[in-house]
Amino acid sequence: MHVAIIGNGFSGLMVARHLIDLGDTSLSISIFEKQHQPGRGIAYSPQSEQVLLNVVAAKMSAFPDKPTHFVEWLSKQTQFLNDDIELLKNSFVSRSIYGKYLNKLWIETLELAFSKKIYLELFQLEITDLISFETNICIQSFNNEFKVDKVILATGNQLPGNPKELTEDSMLSNRYFQNPWNYKLDSIDTQKPIFIIGNGLTMVDTVIQLREQNRSNKIISLSPHGFHILPHRNFSYTLPDWVSELSQQPTLLELVSAINKQLKSLHKHGISAEPLIDSIRPHTQRFWRGFSYSEKVRFMRHFRHLWGLARHRLPFVTYDIIQKERINGSLSIKSGKVISAKPVENGIEISYRDNSIKQNKTIVAAALINCTGPESDITKTNSSLLQNCLEKGYIQQDELKLGISANINTFETINAAGKENWKVFAIGSLLRGELWESTAVNELRIQAKNLAAAILIN
Ligand SMILES: Cc1cc2nc3c(=O)[nH]c(=O)nc-3n(C[C@H](O)[C@H](O)[C@H](O)COP(=O)(O)OP(=O)(O)OC[C@H]3O[C@@H](n4cnc5c(N)ncnc54)[C@H](O)[C@@H]3O)c2cc1C
Repeated sequence: MHVAIIGNGFSGLMVARHLIDLGDTSLSISIFEKQHQPGRGIAYSPQSEQVLLNVVAAKMSAFPDKPTHFVEWLSKQTQFLNDDIELLKNSFVSRSIYGKYLNKLWIETLELAFSKKIYLELFQLEITDLISFETNICIQSFNNEFKVDKVILATGNQLPGNPKELTEDSMLSNRYFQNPWNYKLDSIDTQKPIFIIGNGLTMVDTVIQLREQNRSNKIISLSPHGFHILPHRNFSYTLPDWVSELSQQPTLLELVSAINKQLKSLHKHGISAEPLIDSIRPHTQRFWRGFSYSEKVRFMRHFRHLWGLARHRLPFVTYDIIQKERINGSLSIKSGKVISAKPVENGIEISYRDNSIKQNKTIVAAALINCTGPESDITKTNSSLLQNCLEKGYIQQDELKLGISANINTFETINAAGKENWKVFAIGSLLRGELWESTAVNELRIQAKNLAAAILIN
């Protein structure tokens, strides 16, 4: 069986690894990666050494059944050789060192394939289209095509979508940056602010990187809610099991009121929400799958941002940097909405609603950086591959357009006719509509193992 994996980020790499672990010489694997080093994807190819994982090292093993794998590797790296292992487990290490860990896993994967006489090859190509035949499938890049038996879509994080308020000429302007993970600011006016849309983790990375590049400009970040990201506070407290008291499939209302009750009791004792989030995390996919469509819509409208705020926390050192920036006024986090943007000489003119003063404001910024997070609606992404698959009906978007529909046990995608497509599989953020939480290593390492087993059984 010849399997093609499109994307060699964490998901693509780890599916390949498990396929080789479980497979034999009858298996061939071709991996296609358009841009990044093996395993790294966007998350672990940072432009800065200073950006940290937002999860402690103890939770970042690439293998679901070897929880200490990453920490053991880390403890053998020169800069951590004499460090206490408990300290290491609780550390927030850099995303670039995690990238090195994944590179090492790639080398091991190549060696394993070689020793088991399994064909494994990495092609540095962007796949742009699929053509499905009765018994096999053809994958196409700009100049090549390959016939395989099965395809795994491991395409991961897409670029942020362009805000609809931006005109064509502002999007084409050299002052606008759609890709917050890979951009280069040439000479810019230091007197003008840098404007960021979005104020989540990507905004934080961007601020850190701008300062590292000696950009002293004032930074304004704008998002509809203007929430301030919270730090991890390292609580060792574990909540007693309250989830098993709920029904197997609680309604959104039941869940929200149970969560509020737990939250109140924690607050009464001066404890923040981390232990509560930890107690919910193992069950989020089940809860999400039990919600009706209208409950999912209500969740997205009213609770998504709050959940994101409680769940995506910053390492304390990073939080400190951001707080200092806010206190000295060099970073201003605002709640509001962009109204329009147009390029002007030496900058980009942005009009926005500032909710705190209930007024519209217009400024000329030196640059506009889009930190709104990966786009999930395929029709709005830059991926020709996913758009072509959608047009041909090989895949369909889930009802909330958070990703694509799939059978979550076999990982087969669901085609436009509503049937499982035994030749096209999906993993990772493409499954967000099905699973809600389907982005972090914590979830992907389990999916990678299960997907490999499902393909080999098929
Ligand atoms: C900035 C950032 C920080 C993060 N930090 C953490 C963290 O600290 N801890 C954590 O658990 N999770 C973190 N995450 C979540 C992260 O998404 C996962 O940990 C993981 O990296 C996702 O891996 P993936 O392979 O599914 O997707 P990606 O890493 O996005 O990899 C997909 C790969 O597919 C390639 N690709 C896409 N389309 C094509 C195509 N048509 N042809 C060829 N190649 C293609 C891309 O170039 C990319 O390399 C972070 C995410 C981001 C964006």
